Amino acid sequence: MNSIDEKLQPILAEVVRRNAGEPEFHQAVHEVLESLGRVVAKHPHYLDHALIERICEPERQIIFRIPWVDDKGQVQINRGFRVQFNSALGPYKGGMRFHPSVNVGIIKFLGFEQTFKNALTGMPIGGGKGGSDFDPKGRSDAEIMRFCQSLMTELHRHLGEQTDVPAGDIGVGGREIGYMFGQYKRLNNRFEAGVFTGKALAYGGSRARTEATGYGNTYFVQAMLETKGTSFDGKKVVVSGSGNVAIYTIEKVQSYGGKIIACSDSSGYVVDENEIDLDLLKDIKNVRRERISEYARRRGQGAHFIAADKGSIWDVPCDVAMPSATQNELSGKDAATLIRNGVIAVGEGANMPSTPEAIKAFQDAGVMFAPGKAANAGGVATSALEMQQNASRDSWTFDQTEARLATIMRGIHDSCYQTAEEYGAPGNYVLGANVAGFVRVAEAMRMLGVI
Ligand code: GLU
Repeated sequence: MNSIDEKLQPILAEVVRRNAGEPEFHQAVHEVLESLGRVVAKHPHYLDHALIERICEPERQIIFRIPWVDDKGQVQINRGFRVQFNSALGPYKGGMRFHPSVNVGIIKFLGFEQTFKNALTGMPIGGGKGGSDFDPKGRSDAEIMRFCQSLMTELHRHLGEQTDVPAGDIGVGGREIGYMFGQYKRLNNRFEAGVFTGKALAYGGSRARTEATGYGNTYFVQAMLETKGTSFDGKKVVVSGSGNVAIYTIEKVQSYGGKIIACSDSSGYVVDENEIDLDLLKDIKNVRRERISEYARRRGQGAHFIAADKGSIWDVPCDVAMPSATQNELSGKDAATLIRNGVIAVGEGANMPSTPEAIKAFQDAGVMFAPGKAANAGGVATSALEMQQNASRDSWTFDQTEARLATIMRGIHDSCYQTAEEYGAPGNYVLGANVAGFVRVAEAMRMLGVI
């Protein structure tokens, strides 16, 4: 890992001490503090009033029991989390993740990242994140509903359209949001549309929200490629994952003339030299909810499946890599392989998918690197547009919403690019994103007093 300015080292040491056993949270804080050395050198006042220490400490953390009854009549218990990280810029905002790997450290790292990501969008939203160690795999619709209702029976008292506004993340899509919002509405006896985003159009959702994260990452990478006079056109692209983010990344990259040759899920990856057939992928993943090996089976010639224990999707040679599955899915070794195979750009669709070693390898090799907190901000930005439509009881067209998203992503790209130049690190989007996000949050916090 790169070094941290010595004035900031005690802050990291305290975060590690106070949050023992939470390596992902330490990693996320480490990365931001690494970028802040240049900021405090230029503006030492940010060291005053324990401002950075306060930014590293969540405002509130809620941990609760989620009891529910499965289809066999057995009682199941899961653990629920909501980390309300920072509300200097607006209500806490961030998704809910349902995955067996979820613990307080994972939710804390996600909430921390979310705070800066949301600041970068320029929209009035604070940062938060939540979820549960519930594993939705193999669960029936009725089980998912009962679980969501039990979760919301506790969580509802901590939410509100001016307080905390959840959305989806891994394992949480339209179906789960519907069940959670339904229970929230029932318990509060209020139709408070703006308390959740990622809702279906039928009850107050926004057009383009489903597509927004993948589309946004594609806009960001396209803007980054343009700074070097190139584009997606004719490039070979690998997108890991096959969830919401991956699917709409594939759709947008294809519309820009990029050729997607591989995608994955947790069981392994598929390579399709003829280019991924998006309709087939959508049918397998969104309609039938099957494993990715089905893609190779149904596609036939030219496509093959490699199991997760037999290789990494990053072994597939490509020009652009778009990791869109989960944290730390792209290691230093994967980065070395990608570099050897001639990768020119990386755009993170997931949250913190590249390890610190991978990021360093890309930067040392001069590979353009778009960090998730900037490149995947299109999802939450469109959530803020959904809140805006809910507040004005309006509903915009797809084109209108997508146009706003495109403008926001261009703004995030330019602000990261310019901030990196201003702080003497041209082309370093990690530094640009961390610093631009930090300055927005820090400026608001300075004005609000010691809170
Ligand atoms: N889970 C998404 C993210 O990581 C979206 C959050 C939201 O829309 O609130 O940014």
